Amino acid sequence: MEVLDYAVVGAGIGGVLASALLTKLGRSVALFESLSYLGGCAGTFKKNGFSYNVGATTITGLEDPMPLWRIAEFLETSLPVRELPLSMQVLVKEKRINLWWDSERLLDDLNKNFRGSANHELIDTLRKSHLELWRTLWKFLPFRGYTDLVRFFLRHPTQSLRQLFWHFRSGQSFKEYINGYEDYRLFLDYISLITSQAFLRDVSYSVAVMGLSYPINKTYYAFGGMSNFMESLAKDVDPIYRKTTVFKVKKAGGHFLLETSKGEFRAKRVILNTTVWNLEDLVEVESVKNFSRRAKRTYSKAWSAITLYAKVKKENVKDTPSHVLILDDEPLPFGGTKELFLSFSLPEDRLMSSEDELSLTVSTHTLPSYWENLTEEEYSQRTHTLKEEILERIYKRLPSLKGGIREPFIGTPKTFERYTKRYKGLVGGIPIVREYFPFHYPLPFTPAEGLYVVGDTIFPGQGILGVSVGVLNLLMAIEEEFRKCWSYA
Ligand SMILES: Cc1cc2nc3c(=O)[nH]c(=O)nc-3n(C[C@H](O)[C@H](O)[C@H](O)COP(=O)(O)OP(=O)(O)OC[C@H]3O[C@@H](n4cnc5c(N)ncnc54)[C@H](O)[C@@H]3O)c2cc1C
Repeated sequence: MEVLDYAVVGAGIGGVLASALLTKLGRSVALFESLSYLGGCAGTFKKNGFSYNVGATTITGLEDPMPLWRIAEFLETSLPVRELPLSMQVLVKEKRINLWWDSERLLDDLNKNFRGSANHELIDTLRKSHLELWRTLWKFLPFRGYTDLVRFFLRHPTQSLRQLFWHFRSGQSFKEYINGYEDYRLFLDYISLITSQAFLRDVSYSVAVMGLSYPINKTYYAFGGMSNFMESLAKDVDPIYRKTTVFKVKKAGGHFLLETSKGEFRAKRVILNTTVWNLEDLVEVESVKNFSRRAKRTYSKAWSAITLYAKVKKENVKDTPSHVLILDDEPLPFGGTKELFLSFSLPEDRLMSSEDELSLTVSTHTLPSYWENLTEEEYSQRTHTLKEEILERIYKRLPSLKGGIREPFIGTPKTFERYTKRYKGLVGGIPIVREYFPFHYPLPFTPAEGLYVVGDTIFPGQGILGVSVGVLNLLMAIEEEFRKCWSYA
């Protein structure tokens, strides 16, 4: 039996990038994915012939010093993306705020909505601090553990002290800019929640900078859906075993043995694109199981998601941007939060939109505990109530959609657990709260040599961009050749 250099388990953004970059380096790699499509939470599924994005819909990080464009260049692939003029429209209380990428238009909108706030200073601080953080991050990688931390401190003492100060300063300090506006506070808090999985009071100043900058960076739309974006990254990965579940990873002699639904495979090294919580069930190595059990105890503060998918008549979506964030005064029932994030496919995207309908994905946070141990009846009651409530909130803020939304259906933590296999349906990664990040955040190394993890529960955490950096960090740490051709500093 052939022994692969690498077996990569799971084709979320973490697994796709790891396998694509290693293939480019000339390693023999096989990628295993239990679903028929690539992307996991950032994938695209079909129902009754119509396509819907699973969860993620926005892509950022294509400009230097962020890495996605450089990754695409390295892989010699062209990404099926289009730059959007505004990252999202925020509907909060009676306000409509357009988050334009263009600074002047953005500032105009903020000044119109929040007179007397230090909007210019806020944007300026975010842009400058964001750049500084990215530049520091590249000097910091590869981050293999505490010795690297000490090395970084000795090499860059001034930068280190500044970063340490930013770590101990609260993300809450951004509220000083907003002149007491309750709706501004809500808006910033929810941008923080959707980017860092935590409200500003719980994150450090640096995490807040990264999170709040997300919507003022350029945002890109994936033509043909998020899975199409993943396919373009994975174009040279061969073989990709789709609809193939890996049941167990074991040690066998000097190699790893993978038991899959398509038979057994051997590899010198294995990269698992799964959560740290899933390792206990997947890996037959006691020390790794213990590592996973500890992770379950330590990182217990995590979210899941509620999603609503639907077709929308094109004529009802006129003048509505691709992404809209609705913030309500009250949280949704069953452990929900106050936001609804709506993403519409572009009318000219003929893979995602039909002649007269667009594809809509709506997402929001929920606490997974509200979805455990329910009877079938309770479960279907809850999904029904949520569907009605979400639609009502959408119609209240976007009345033109009334009568235009067709065949809506709901996704819950159970849906995410079933399809992406994520433990308890926990999505979005481990929240980037000060309690965990960065000093106690999981690194990609497991106690078993040659067995690694990538994905949004691994440093530096969540989103397409965060997971991409995590993959680069791992490959810089374990592949010297990669480190040489990927020097960023
Ligand atoms: C509702 C929602 C909205 C989001 N919006 C955005 C957004 O707009 N922008 C953004 O950047 N991020 C967004 N995110 C976050 C982002 O989608 C995730 O952080 C990221 O996609 C996670 O990637 P991952 O590499 O951890 O893999 P995952 O997405 O978890 O994928 C893992 C893959 O591995 C497969 N797998 C697992 N176990 C096995 C096994 N044993 N055998 C075979 N295959 C296996 C699964 O089927 C899955 O395809 C959103 C997340 C959600 C849930």
